Amino acid sequence: MTPKDRFTRLIATTGPISVAQYMAESNARYYDSRDPLGSAGDFITAPEISQMFGELIGLWLADMWDRAGRPAHVHYVELGPGRGTLARDALGAARRFGLTPDVHFVEASSALAALQRGTIPDATWHADLSTIPDDAPLLIVANEFLDALAIRQIVRTPSGWRERMVGLDGDNLVPMAGDRPMDAAVPAAFADAPPGTILEACPAAAAITAELGRRLCVQGGAALVIDYGRAQMASGSTLQALRAHNPVDPFAHPGEADLTAHVDFSVLPEIAQAQGARWLGTVEQGAFLTALGLAARTQALCRAAPAKSAAIEAAAHRLAAPEEMGALFQVMGLCAPGWPPGAGF
Ligand code: SAH
Repeated sequence: MTPKDRFTRLIATTGPISVAQYMAESNARYYDSRDPLGSAGDFITAPEISQMFGELIGLWLADMWDRAGRPAHVHYVELGPGRGTLARDALGAARRFGLTPDVHFVEASSALAALQRGTIPDATWHADLSTIPDDAPLLIVANEFLDALAIRQIVRTPSGWRERMVGLDGDNLVPMAGDRPMDAAVPAAFADAPPGTILEACPAAAAITAELGRRLCVQGGAALVIDYGRAQMASGSTLQALRAHNPVDPFAHPGEADLTAHVDFSVLPEIAQAQGARWLGTVEQGAFLTALGLAARTQALCRAAPAKSAAIEAAAHRLAAPEEMGALFQVMGLCAPGWPPGAGF
C-alpha cells in the first residue's frame, strides 16, 4: 500500500482530517523514510550549499559565549539537524576559539539520526526539548526546522470560518472546509474577510519558541532560528510541497514530498520575550551573513582553493543575494537576559 493509499483509506473510514493532522502525518512519514537533502533528494538547504554557512554560525555562537564570560560547561543544541552538516561546520569553527560544547540533537527521523551519527558520533539524541539537560547554558540553532512543523489553517466560507480539512474527491485528496465553526479563532482584522480567505498558524512553532525562551531565561545562552517566512501576519495558504526540487500539489503525494509552510516571524519574538528571553532582532539572512564576514570568508576559501573559486563564489551568492536565499530567509536571534547583544543584529 502506498502512503497515499493509507491516507485515502483513513479519510474514507474516518472522514476528512485537518490540514494540521495531514501535514504532521505526511512529514513524519516523509522524514522518517529517507534523506531528503541534496541534489539526489527533494530540496537543498544552506548548510548543504556551503561550509561557510555553518562556519559563520559557529563563529557567532563562539563570540556570544566569549562575551558572556566563556562559561566552562555549555550545551550545543540543534533542532532538526538534517545530515549534521551545519553542526560539523559550526562546531569546527567554534573549536578554534576554544568553545567545545556537549552536542545535543533534537531529531524525529530515524533515517536522518543515523546519518547524523556518522557525522557527529558523540552527540546525544532527543525526541524533543524536554530531555535537554538543564544544568548549563544552551547554544541553540534551528535551520529550516520550524517550516516543517504542522500548521493549522482556517478558511472563510459564506457561513463563517471553518477549519480547513483534507477530504476525498474520488481517489484524490482535496482541501475542503470542515463543519465546525471556527469564528472565535479569527483575529479581528480578518473577521469580515471574503469567502475563500485562508489564515494559518503554527501552534508547534509557538510552543517550541516559548520553551526556547524559557530555557534561555533559566539556564543562560543564545539561539539562532533561521527559516523562510514572512515578517507580518497575512492571509493566504503558504503550504507547499517540494519533490525532486520542483513544487508539486501539497495534497498529491502525502508522505512522499516535503511539506512546509512560511514561518510567521511576526509572532515569535513576543512569545519568547513573554518567557523572559531577550530578542536580539530578526534580520534577513543575506544581511546577517554579510555582517558576520561572508565576503572575507569567501575570499579566504578561494585563495586556499583557486580551482574552486567560481563554485565558492556562486555558493556565497546563493546564500546571501536578495534574489536567491538572502531576503526570503530570516534570522531571529534570542538570548538570556544577562547575555551580550549578538553580532549581526
Ligand atoms: N537543518 C537541516 C535540515 C532541515 S530539514 C539543514 O538545514 O540542512 C528538517 C529537519 O527537521 C530534518 O532533520 C527533519 O527530520 C527534522 N524534523 C522535522 N520535523 C520534526 C519534528 N517534529 N521533530 C523533530 N525533528 C523534526
